Amino acid sequence: MELWFTEHHNDCIGYSLKVKRTLNSEETKYQKLDVIESEFYGRVLVLDGILQTTEKDEFVYHEMIVHVPLFTHKNPKNVLIVGGGDGGAVKEILKHDTVERIVLAEIDERVVENSKKYLPSISYGLNDKKVELMIGDGIKYVNEHKNEFDVVIVDSTDPIGPAVGLFTEDFYRSVYDCLRDDGIIVAQTESPFIYGNLINKLSKMFKKIYPIVKPYICTIPTYPGHLWTFTMGSKKYDPEAVDVNNIPEIETKYYTPELHKSSFVLPKFLKDIFEEA
Ligand code: SAM
Repeated sequence: MELWFTEHHNDCIGYSLKVKRTLNSEETKYQKLDVIESEFYGRVLVLDGILQTTEKDEFVYHEMIVHVPLFTHKNPKNVLIVGGGDGGAVKEILKHDTVERIVLAEIDERVVENSKKYLPSISYGLNDKKVELMIGDGIKYVNEHKNEFDVVIVDSTDPIGPAVGLFTEDFYRSVYDCLRDDGIIVAQTESPFIYGNLINKLSKMFKKIYPIVKPYICTIPTYPGHLWTFTMGSKKYDPEAVDVNNIPEIETKYYTPELHKSSFVLPKFLKDIFEEA
């Protein structure tokens, strides 16, 4: 019998992958966690029925959520990731020689443990000596740390369960205080095709708090809608003013200096969503 995993959205959209076998299924303290081996995308981490990352296309999301803010900041040393327990963002941050300390504030230690066990090609950076693993609510961590980080990356699940508070104005204000004077926040802000209203709402919040606010895009084969957004809030640096000729060379599969710039060029309907905010 053929087995398929299907992710559902808005009760009318489904995205399916053919499953070879299930490697693990458990109820953690916070969510239902599955690791499956898919026919085409390799191993896949699923939380509460929503695909988080796959071995085959994880590089797109993780490179874009990391290299765009880190190459926008002039000298990022301290980086905080909220969520991101799979370790994909950590793996990319470790490519930046300026970075001295990476704090990963992940609420669910079972995500970290499963990623280490089943997704080593994504999680291998988690044991690096620069990484501090803080198991707990990222909101609490941010509230308790002021003027400390150069870049904060919100690598969260969709706004359900423990992640609801990561999509609020209060949280983005606390992140502002957690950042140094020239700090940058980037959050994953979902698909404009499916969650355009959410992007509009989040853009409004960011514009109230950060002097420079810019959404940028990439294409992720396994995320719903495929066209994906990140929203950057910056206290000082403009990500579009980056000198692309001076970006140091690192090993990537998606990100390039040219793409850094072009990712801020938005399709009309998304530009409208952002400008109306
Ligand atoms: N790339 C992914 C995506 O967009 O689907 C997100 C990956 S990462 C696995 C998301 C992580 O956020 C999960 O491991 C989840 O446990 C964590 N998370 C959710 N709410 C959180 C919170 N309040 N504090 C810290 N981590 C949280």
